[in-house]
Amino acid sequence: VIVRFDCNFLASRVLFGPGRLGEVGAEARRLGKQRALFVCTPSLCSSTHAARVRASLGELLVLEYTNVEPHVPVHVVEKGIALANRYKIDLVIALGGGSAIGVGKAITFYASTSSEYTAINQQCIPLIAIPTTYAGSEATPVLGITDLELGQKQILSDPRIIPRVVIYDPEVTFDLPSQLTASTGVNALAHCVEAVYSRSSNPLIRAVALDGIARIRWALPRCVETGQDLKARSIMLIGAFMAGFSLANAGMALHHGICHSLGGKFRLQHGIINAIMLPHVMRYNADTATSALAEIASALGIPASDTDMYKRALQAADLVYEFVGSLGLPQRLRDINIAESDLLAVAEGVMHSRAVLDNPKPITSAKQVLAILRQAW
Ligand code: NAD
Repeated sequence: VIVRFDCNFLASRVLFGPGRLGEVGAEARRLGKQRALFVCTPSLCSSTHAARVRASLGELLVLEYTNVEPHVPVHVVEKGIALANRYKIDLVIALGGGSAIGVGKAITFYASTSSEYTAINQQCIPLIAIPTTYAGSEATPVLGITDLELGQKQILSDPRIIPRVVIYDPEVTFDLPSQLTASTGVNALAHCVEAVYSRSSNPLIRAVALDGIARIRWALPRCVETGQDLKARSIMLIGAFMAGFSLANAGMALHHGICHSLGGKFRLQHGIINAIMLPHVMRYNADTATSALAEIASALGIPASDTDMYKRALQAADLVYEFVGSLGLPQRLRDINIAESDLLAVAEGVMHSRAVLDNPKPITSAKQVLAILRQAW
């Protein structure tokens, strides 16, 4: 087999470790910035974490914006941009999950800046992202903004969107409720799985993604069981970092396309849809991405005693199904109130997604997708 690939790696400056949240002010000063806007997810506004961000920023903190809503709605973004312009903001700090970080990305990308700019990898205004879930937005150059009236999410990808600095502090995730821990954790697992078998992956990303799978498999049940387990939270956050890096640097495949189509139509929690769909898409790909899924089986801890690769590929899908169930997450689309009659429209929506092109098994008609959705229903 001839190996051939192109890659342009995208990465931020990353600080990892317990207590690193307190270094946000030093990072802001290192960037030479003076007028910071702090975007915070509502549930963490009165937390000690937010208080530490304020204390660390000190006189640099000019304004707070806490109107974050799920899926980054247009009206939230527009208000944030107007505030950033009015207060001549030159740095944004976002503390929260994918929604808060998405709002931070949108403000930094669209608000005007006094500085000259715009070489690739330079944002208009720098963003310091402090993720509190495992969704991975902090690692990507991708921004999704939702038009609530049309029920559509516009996706924009630009190297300048990637945060300048990411602070991964496992202590910030201690209070992440167990269901959000489980669902956003499976979201990270899905990013790793698709990065292993995506057509646009490469050997480096596959290695990172496989290691991420092994860490998530070990750590996620422990984090769900005991939120304040520092070792488990740290290993899970490294897994999420690896998943985010994989998501940023390999095109996602059919699973991602299906989750976006379902999410856009029903505005359900992203991680829950991920959890329901993942084993079904893995099973669908098992006869084509057989060796990739067999490697995933090894990363999941399935002993290599059985050398039939196809059997191992199917075992990987079965294990992910059991894993999702063991975390207490829903396992069927009907359990989250999706009607069987809606599945065709979802399948047709998936055909517009770029993700179908990167799926290992060719997707040529909505009927193929519909069959997978029916199995998950
Ligand atoms: P979220 O940001 O919507 O957060 C979900 C809920 O969890 C919110 O109510 C939030 O306040 C709460 N929360 C977050 N952290 C908490 C903590 N530590 N303790 C207590 N509560 C906490 O959910 P998410 O799954 O992180 O992000 C999903 C959004 O991000 C979706 O819109 C998805 O499309 C987007 N996303 C984008 C990218 C990208 O690359 N652009 C990647 C992944 C996800």
